[in-house]
Amino acid sequence: MALTHNLGFPRIGVKRELKKALEAYWAGQSNEEELVETGKQLRERHWAIQHAAGNAFVTVGDFAWYDHILEWSTTLGVVPSRFNHPRNAPVDLDTLFRMARGRAPSGDPAAACEMTKWFDTNYHYIVPELAADQAFYLARTCLFDQVSQAQACGYQVKPVIPGILTYLWLSKGESFANAEDERKLALIPQLLAAYKDVLARFAQLGVQWVQVDESALVLDLPAAWQDAYREVYAQLAQAPVNILLATYFGDVADNTELVSSLPVAGVHFDLVRAPKQLEKVLPSWPADRVLSAGIISGREIWRTDLDHAAAVLGPVAEQLGEGLWLAPASSLLHVPVDLSEEIQLDDEIKSWLSFAVQKLEELNLLAAVLNGAVTDEQSAALVRQRAALADRKVSRRIHNPAVTERVNGASSVSRDRTPFAERISKQRAALGLPDFPTTTIGSFPQTPEIRKLRRDWKAGAITDTNYEEAIRQEIRDVVKFQEEAGLDVLVHGEPERNDMVEYFGELLAGFAFTQNGWVQSYGSRCVKPPIIYGDVARLIPMTVEWTAFAQSLTDKPMKGMLTGPVTVLQWSFVRDDQSRQATCLQLALALRDEVVDLEKAGIRVIQIDEPAFREGLPLRKADWQAYLDWAVDCFKLSTSGVQDTTQIHTHMCYSEFNDIIESIAAMDADVITIETSRSNMELLEAFERFNYPNDIGPGVYDIHSPNVPDREWMIQLMNKAASRLNRKQLWVNPDCGLKTRQWPETRSALIEMVNAAQTLRSAA
Ligand code: GLN
Ligand code: ZN
Repeated sequence: MALTHNLGFPRIGVKRELKKALEAYWAGQSNEEELVETGKQLRERHWAIQHAAGNAFVTVGDFAWYDHILEWSTTLGVVPSRFNHPRNAPVDLDTLFRMARGRAPSGDPAAACEMTKWFDTNYHYIVPELAADQAFYLARTCLFDQVSQAQACGYQVKPVIPGILTYLWLSKGESFANAEDERKLALIPQLLAAYKDVLARFAQLGVQWVQVDESALVLDLPAAWQDAYREVYAQLAQAPVNILLATYFGDVADNTELVSSLPVAGVHFDLVRAPKQLEKVLPSWPADRVLSAGIISGREIWRTDLDHAAAVLGPVAEQLGEGLWLAPASSLLHVPVDLSEEIQLDDEIKSWLSFAVQKLEELNLLAAVLNGAVTDEQSAALVRQRAALADRKVSRRIHNPAVTERVNGASSVSRDRTPFAERISKQRAALGLPDFPTTTIGSFPQTPEIRKLRRDWKAGAITDTNYEEAIRQEIRDVVKFQEEAGLDVLVHGEPERNDMVEYFGELLAGFAFTQNGWVQSYGSRCVKPPIIYGDVARLIPMTVEWTAFAQSLTDKPMKGMLTGPVTVLQWSFVRDDQSRQATCLQLALALRDEVVDLEKAGIRVIQIDEPAFREGLPLRKADWQAYLDWAVDCFKLSTSGVQDTTQIHTHMCYSEFNDIIESIAAMDADVITIETSRSNMELLEAFERFNYPNDIGPGVYDIHSPNVPDREWMIQLMNKAASRLNRKQLWVNPDCGLKTRQWPETRSALIEMVNAAQTLRSAA
């Protein structure tokens, strides 16, 4: 009999209860007891769901106040020195929050810990900071308390903890650089001692299985790390519990032998992302070792083809008997909680979907099939599941022959524009721009009034006419301000957009939106990714009217503002019935039409934002080039339909260009604006080394801070940039959009920025 289990459940709550409780606590509107009570109730609710779905264990340790890696750091007493935490003292909740956010209701503020993307997800973890002589000790008992809490509810418990090497891999040195692997690996003996303590405490509580997450095993690991794996797990083999080593988000590939050689009681594989792993490991799988098959996606929201899963796993069940466990491929942290909350979603589309609760039900069904124990109710559910899948395959909502035809024809569409040198001189002449031209990244402050306006309009509380006039007034104000401030390339300010992906998704065919499909991004912040379910097509121009209106108010060039195909793809749930590349191509074609229409409407500068371009990079370096090739191709497809005189901008706000500078150059945008002000222009190194040919706007105004940047400081930054690049290449602009800022500081900052540009020009 194959049993089922779960690697982790979304912690935020179906109604974002955790978010609300956290924010109330941080704001001083509730106390710690109330917060702790919310956490307790959420855990119990989530365990009950797992139990009801027939899971053999409930998972404990997937709950976190802010982030599960931060939970683990604080459990092990890893608190950076700037928080002045007394050595070997217990860590309290407010210390955890100060590490996450820089401040908490109690204690002195200090710089928050760094946050980074969790593998290739949109979830962010708090990066552990380890001192060279880092001590590890049990500084919090909450994990053990949670085990007891679950046991008191009558459940079998399987705790989950980060594996030693994955934890180290994801950490950075407090006093030594990220890259110094040796110093990280030198911490293993102390860390091992702490892990042994933890495992012993679990054993004392009667725990039999512990899930140890080692997803670093799906990455390119240096030999020293592979050796470290052998050492560490040889030592942990003596622990008085069974270890289930969990790998997910990819193929262990070249680490397959390593993984098979580790003396652990079980291994979990992601068979959704990397189904071929099964064939590789199965023939020599030991009879006494558990193989946990991650067979239901923890990253996507589509129903599983259970017949296919059963066909794949049938022989495995026969070979391994009780040694086969069934699970979602990864934690369910990355999908929304419960589809049944979606009452507005179209019934047909809804029938194709599965959120965390439904995924556990699917798992249960699969187990019933494999175990030959299908009840009448389950067999009815299976029939429904099959019907939904069959419908999805042929639904006319998904397949649009016109799009297919367009995509087929796209291979003959040229992606290349005339050489940049030729284009840029024509553009300079046509646009009449000074040296060090100034611009912004698109959005202007989104005041509570603007947000309310959009909400009221969506709710039908105000008429279209009233809404449109209010937006026009906002655009007039923003244009007037920019003219007064003396900016060179203006924007309309994006007041009509709630979100840079959602806005376009709502106007394109092929997208669906949920009401409650929240997924945690970091801490209390959640996002509601749109669902791309079908062929993407542009039904109507999406931005032309607003942009043309804005242009009519000024003689200066008005910059059209679009979200790029790769970013829309990256920030949505996408189809699993075609490649990401295929979906991206459809998006690119839709955006291409918009670009051409903007040009026709007299818009001479068009920006296509690609802030998510880099985060789409696959986990394995060997897969990078293929991704970069199609991502660049899609960007170029969307931008190459215009005349030489039309200037294409792009914008990216992240800090690592070194790896991908060649592809950035290959995108061939006339101007790229990037985030640099925080790093003091160090980012430009990559552009300098590569001899980046096109124009570039290194941000000089850190829009994440309410501070007004100093004029001299901006001049210094630009001079630094000019020492690395040709001054003719340089633009002057903020780091990113201004939507989270307030008006007073925005006004002053942009006026200072324009003054700085004027000084730079006159110094020529
Ligand atoms: N044009 C967008 C804005 O200004 C860009 C946002 C982003 O880079 N994330 O808001
Ligand atoms: Zn940005």
